[in-house]
Amino acid sequence: MLLAARTLVWVSLMAMTTSAALAGERKDIPDKYKWNLGDLFPTEAAWTKGKDAFAARLPELAKHKGRLGKGPDEVLATLRLMFDLDLELSRLSVYAASLSDEDVRAARPREMKQSAEELATAFSAATSWVRPELLTVDPAKVRKWIAGTPKLAPYRMYLEETLRRKPHTLSAAEEHVAAEAGELERAGGEVHGVLSNADLPYPTVKLSTGESVRLDPQAYSLHRQDRARADRDKVFSAFFGSLATYERTMGATLAAAVKAHLFDKRIRHFDSALDAALFQDNIPPAVYKQLLADVHRSLPTLHRYLALRKRMLGVDTLRYQDLYVPLVSSVDLHFAPDEARTITLDALAPLGKDYTEALRKGFDSRWTDYLPTTGKRSGAYSTGVYGVHPYQLLNFNGRYEDLTTLAHESGHSMHTFLSHGAQPYPTADYPIFVAEVASTFNENLLIHYMLDRAKDDATKLFLLGTLLDGLRTTLFRQTQFAEFELAFHEQAERGEPLTGENLSKLYLKIARDYYGHDKKVCQVEDLLAVEWAYVPHFYYDFYVYQYATSMVASTSLARAVREEAKTGKTARRDAYLKMLSSGSSKYAIDLLKDAGVDMTTSAPFDAAIAEMNATMDEMDRILDRQAKPAPKR
Ligand SMILES: [Zn+2]
Repeated sequence: MLLAARTLVWVSLMAMTTSAALAGERKDIPDKYKWNLGDLFPTEAAWTKGKDAFAARLPELAKHKGRLGKGPDEVLATLRLMFDLDLELSRLSVYAASLSDEDVRAARPREMKQSAEELATAFSAATSWVRPELLTVDPAKVRKWIAGTPKLAPYRMYLEETLRRKPHTLSAAEEHVAAEAGELERAGGEVHGVLSNADLPYPTVKLSTGESVRLDPQAYSLHRQDRARADRDKVFSAFFGSLATYERTMGATLAAAVKAHLFDKRIRHFDSALDAALFQDNIPPAVYKQLLADVHRSLPTLHRYLALRKRMLGVDTLRYQDLYVPLVSSVDLHFAPDEARTITLDALAPLGKDYTEALRKGFDSRWTDYLPTTGKRSGAYSTGVYGVHPYQLLNFNGRYEDLTTLAHESGHSMHTFLSHGAQPYPTADYPIFVAEVASTFNENLLIHYMLDRAKDDATKLFLLGTLLDGLRTTLFRQTQFAEFELAFHEQAERGEPLTGENLSKLYLKIARDYYGHDKKVCQVEDLLAVEWAYVPHFYYDFYVYQYATSMVASTSLARAVREEAKTGKTARRDAYLKMLSSGSSKYAIDLLKDAGVDMTTSAPFDAAIAEMNATMDEMDRILDRQAKPAPKR
């Protein structure tokens, strides 16, 4: 996205499922474990002054309206002002949101966050005329202006991107109606959100530990990992049983969202809902379809994984209910924050000294808010402001997954740092399609670093299992979602009705196919049919596939950089670092191509599957060794 309400925040997928943290009081935490928001505004009073100044400048934009056709100087003046204000808005928003996240209960920061959000709405209204007005100018003329005006260079992508949208942009009056309809289009997702977050009467079950648990989606994702099989069965039946009673309602909310996607597709003249969604970031729809085909071709690798899981759990029949229990539970790694910092820096050494030194400086100058404190927002994310520096929020509890989260968020932060350092503001933010590459790349380096240093088989199995589970849930599960999402959109495009019942039928068929139910690899019970009903991502309009493509790209890239590091060469690393410095100066597919992965081919996918198989080879070797009886004396 080249211009959106600016606060780009990369929320960690993994951290969303972490359990409640052990919280202390913020005032008792040493400064070195807290981020320094003073780099954005020295005081709250300075923020208020900045906010008033922004509000006062906003009306200046209207003075440029109706003048863009006059020539490149007018275009330049307008875009300069717009991006200036945009940057100021990002500083105001990040400060207010971050301050509020330190303690979500505090009233004043919450008010500040709200007024920043209001400013963002006002800004987007005040700039909504710019693109439509640019499109009234002959594209050849605009391109001539770009070529002949060196000062327009930073805005070239913005202008090209505007022209690219021309065939799918409507008349001013139609755009106005479309914007009004946009309000209605969110209804399906909103009703689903209220139902699933608040109103659905989730069941309460008593576990073998004696604990009573109300199974909302968070509790379900925690307890599907329970060691006791009977508990997992109970949790599975109760959770999906209760969802199933709302199958019809959930079907209606999803059908409403799909109708909205089809409405957009029709009025903007796209051939399919998929084309319309992928057009936004200029991703060729072939990339999506190829991911599905690649995963299908690789289902034997998933089935090999399931057989390995069956062996490690020691069960007669593997069932879907057995997929989330950790493969190794005897290993409990713990890290202090300083230790995690040192490990992260060491693990990222294959990226070179410039990268690790910049990150070390970032750690030393308080980019990171490490520890859980009372009232602090849960989870983890990375954000940042151009001209200042990245910020990352963690809830670090010392577990291995917290170490992983530090490496992950540091990947986002360094991507921000490098792109902001190398790009002019209009192209400094990177596209969503590449964002999760930088973060999962670092996770990959970390786990291989840890593996190289693991001393005993149990720790090795734990780490290999973690690597493997990450590949399973991201490559296969997210693609399974992507396949379902495409299938129900196509069903609607053919004019077939979308009901809860037929969505469940479709979902179960795909899930059984993936998990090899008919081949007796993993048993998938009828009740799983309704799993789609609690996944909010199906309302995001073809979003989830990017989790899989990012993992494919990062696994393939990290493998190449690790291999290369052994030879002392740096070509692959340098190409990757160049991508991290390129922001959105090119489209995502081209950025990745320059870094050495062509997402329009199967090569990166095959490299990721090779990594998955290599991981399983290693685990098999350890398990075989352990299974051998000790030699007799
Ligand atoms: Zn992330």
